[in-house]
Parts: sequence; structure tokens; C-alpha cells
Amino acid sequence: MSDLEDARRIRIGQTWLELVLGDITQQDADAIVNAANSSLLGGGGVDGAIHRAAGPQLLEETRKLGGCPTGEARITRGYNLKARYVIHAVGPVYQPGSPRNQALLASAYRSSLELAVQYGLRSLAFPSISTGAYGYPLEEAAPVALQTVCDFIAAPTSLEWVRFVLFNALALAVYTQALQMILRRQRADSEPA
Ligand code: ADP
Repeated sequence: MSDLEDARRIRIGQTWLELVLGDITQQDADAIVNAANSSLLGGGGVDGAIHRAAGPQLLEETRKLGGCPTGEARITRGYNLKARYVIHAVGPVYQPGSPRNQALLASAYRSSLELAVQYGLRSLAFPSISTGAYGYPLEEAAPVALQTVCDFIAAPTSLEWVRFVLFNALALAVYTQALQMILRRQRADSEPA
């Protein structure tokens, strides 16, 4: 395995964390996460792609949920997707200079992970929440997304693997670098003084 591949698949506690290039609608995970908006009625980007791939029954189910506040998540069935469930997470619309961006983004990831564990799921695939139409810069979002997942899976859960499915080479590169940074920091912290 090359150093780069190494950097894209690491074990934290009992869970594998992976970074891959791909289309989240094609993922064979117990659940895929949707970067939804608070109406939960579908939209563009990854949300539109998931609704198209899942079929119209997904919208029928999300309509009944009555929306979802920013920073929270809701779960539905996956219908025509390979994934059994879709976890609809609402990330923040990026507000330059606001201290709330980070907390809300971390909360969207954490809420998704909590739902996955509540349902006893073993595998979960995330997109890069908020970094498309919602304008969160990739370089700022990646460390928040990764640190939140790393912290969560450090304790034992039902999750055997969590995967970030990045849609283009730039996103994969930015996430890979952010993960390397987190690992370096962890190693430095655990070294004897
Ligand atoms: P948001 O409104 O939360 O910003 P977007 O869907 O606009 O959500 O974008 C979130 C991220 O998802 C972007 O980085 C975009 O490139 C990516 N994306 C879009 N389509 C897909 C897909 N089919 N699979 C994985 N990622 C996708």
C-alpha cells in the first residue's frame, strides 16, 4: 500500500475511517448521509442526486418529518439506494467570520453518527457537508468534519467503518491533508514529554 493510500484508511479504536473519491449515491453502506437543507424537501447538489437515486418515495417520507434544524439530522429508509437508510444532516450556510459555523458543522456530523449508532448501523458514508452551495471553505470544513468523526469513533460503537466520499480530486486532497495533520497532532500529543 502506498503512503497516500495508507493516509486514506486508518483505524481508530474499533472503527476504520476511510477517504475515497466517488459518488455517494453508489455507496454500499448501511446508511449514507445527505447534505440536506432544513426543509428536507430535496434540493441541488448531493441532495438532488440522492433523491433521484432513491426514487420518489424518499420525498414522501421526508415530507412527513416537518423539516430539521441546522446542526441536527433525521433518518429515513433508502428505497432504491444500495444503502438501507439515509441520514439527512443539515449543515450550516457558511457565514464568514461567524464563530457558529464550526459548532453547527460539528453538530451535523455528530447528530448523524448518533443516529447511526442508535440504529445499530455498522457502516456509514458521509459527503463533505456544507462545502457546496452552502459555501463552507473546504480547507476549514475538512478538519472539523474529520476531528468530529475521529473523536466519536475513539469510543466503541456499532460502527465498523465510516467513509468520506469526496466528489472530486481537490476535495480528496484537502481531506487527506487534514487527516494527516490530525494524526500528526495526535502522535505529538501522545509522545512522552
Ligand atoms: P451543501 O448545500 O451542504 O453545501 P452540496 O450538495 O451543494 O451541499 O455540496 C456538498 C458537497 O457534496 C460538495 O463538496 C459537492 O462537491 C459534493 N457532492 C455533490 N454531489 C455529490 C455526490 N453525488 N456524491 C458525493 N459528493 C457530492
